[in-house]
Amino acid sequence: MKKRHLIIGAGNAGLNAAITIARLKPEDEIEIISHEPWAPYCRCLLTYFLEGIITKEKLFTWGEEIIAKNRLIYRQNERVINVDLENLIVECENGRQAGADTILIATGGKPQKPDFPGAELPGIFTLRTFADALAIEKRVRPGGCWAVAGAGLVSLKTIAALRRHGIKIDLFATSARILSQVLDPYAARLAATKLTDNQVTINVNEDIIKATAAPDSQLKLTTSHGRELLVDGLLYGKGVNAASPLGSSDISHDDWGAAQSSAPKPWQETQDGIPVNSHLEFKKNLFAAGDTAQVFDLVRGESNRLPLWPLAGEQGLVAGFNMANANLKDSPPTRLYTGGISCNAFSIFGLDFISAGYREVPTDENGWHSLKQKKGDSYSRLNFYQNQLKGFILSGSGITGSGNIRKAGPLLARMKREALSRQ
Ligand SMILES: Cc1cc2nc3c(=O)[nH]c(=O)nc-3n(C[C@H](O)[C@H](O)[C@H](O)COP(=O)(O)OP(=O)(O)OC[C@H]3O[C@@H](n4cnc5c(N)ncnc54)[C@H](O)[C@@H]3O)c2cc1C
Repeated sequence: MKKRHLIIGAGNAGLNAAITIARLKPEDEIEIISHEPWAPYCRCLLTYFLEGIITKEKLFTWGEEIIAKNRLIYRQNERVINVDLENLIVECENGRQAGADTILIATGGKPQKPDFPGAELPGIFTLRTFADALAIEKRVRPGGCWAVAGAGLVSLKTIAALRRHGIKIDLFATSARILSQVLDPYAARLAATKLTDNQVTINVNEDIIKATAAPDSQLKLTTSHGRELLVDGLLYGKGVNAASPLGSSDISHDDWGAAQSSAPKPWQETQDGIPVNSHLEFKKNLFAAGDTAQVFDLVRGESNRLPLWPLAGEQGLVAGFNMANANLKDSPPTRLYTGGISCNAFSIFGLDFISAGYREVPTDENGWHSLKQKKGDSYSRLNFYQNQLKGFILSGSGITGSGNIRKAGPLLARMKREALSRQ
C-alpha cells in the first residue's frame, strides 16, 4: 500500500532518509519541509563560501539534484511549529497542516545566541545558515578587524575565511585554551601557534560582556577583563543546541528513551535533543535523526547528541530504512543504529588534525592510560581504557604529517570494533 512520509528538515539527515525511502519504496510519497527559503545545501561548506572557494550555485547543486532525482515534494520557507504525536500531523506557522504515515524530525541545531547588553546590534552574528553567511559576507570589509567569541570548530573555520580577506582577528575563549572539546592541551598549543603565526590574537579566559554602537558602523566591545576594542563585526560561536518542533512536555514525558542507555534526560533540563531508541524512533512511526537527536555514543556507552555531518547522514539512512519498512499494524522496523563516534577532522592554516572519542582521559577513574608521540607539529595521542582504544588525537602537516593523519581510519575502525564487541 502506498504510504506518505513527512520529513521535517532538509539537512544531511533529512535528505539521506528521503533518498533511502525513495530507493526502497518508489511508489511512496515523500514530502520534505524546510524553514529555509532555498534548496538544501551542505552547511559545512558555508565557511568555504565566505572564503570565496565555493560559489552560491555550487553550494545548492547537491540538494537540487537530490530533490529532482528522487521525485521529492520539497516545501521551502515553511516552519513547523508543532507535531501532533498521536495522529502524526504537523502544523506549520502559515497555518497549513499535513499528516503522514511516518514522520522524521531532522531539524538540526540552533546556535546559542549572545545575551550580553547590545547583543542585538547589527554586526553581531552566529553562523548556521546560508542567510547567516550572506549577512556576514555583506559586513566583511577587506583589511578590517573582527572579534570571534568561542574557540570551537565553526569559529576556527570562519577565522580562516575572514583571514582570506585580510581581516585582523581577536579570538576570545571562555576556557583556558582553544578547541577544548576536541584537542588536549598539547595539541591545542600546536593549533594556537598556527593561529598566532597567522595574525590571530588569542585571548583565553576572557569573554565579551557588552557591545555598543560606534562611529562608521563599527562596534565597541567590552571584555570581562575590562578591555575595549573596536571591530567591524563579532562572530558568536559558543555552541549549538538541538532544534526541535516538539514541546518540552512531549519530550520529558516520553517513555521510550535510547534503547541502550539509562532513562532519557528531560529536555528542558539539558537541551540535549530528542531521545530515540535504536531504530531512531521517538514514538511509533515518529523518528528523529541528526543534530536534533540524542543517539547512542558508542565510545561513551550513553545517549548523547553527536552533531556531525557524516553521522547525521548515517542516521538518516537508518531512519529512512525504518520509515520505508514501517508496517503500520504489526511488525517493528528492522534496521538498528548501533551508535556513532564523535570524530572531527579539520585544518588550521595547513596543520591538519583528526581527533575522536575521548581526547583526554578522565582523571578520576583508574584503568586509563595514554600513548603519546611528538615530533615537530606531528603529534599522536592514543587513549586506552583497560587496553581498549577509547580515543585519539593526530596532527601533522605536509607529506610527513599526512602519514600520521592517515592512521585515523584504522584507529576509528578499531574503536568501533572494540566498542561493538562489548555490546
Ligand atoms: C559553518 C559550519 C561548519 C560545519 N563544519 C562541519 C564539519 O566540517 N564537519 C562536520 O562533521 N560537521 C560540520 N558542521 C556541522 C554539520 O553541518 C551538522 O552536523 C549537520 O548539518 C547536521 O545535519 P542535520 O540534517 O541534522 O541538520 P541541519 O543540517 O541543521 O538541517 C536542519 C534542517 O531542518 C530545517 N528546520 C529546522 N527547524 C525547522 C522547523 N521548525 N520547521 C521546518 N524546518 C526546520 C532547516 O531548515 C534545515 O533544513 C558544520 C556546521 C556549520 C554551521
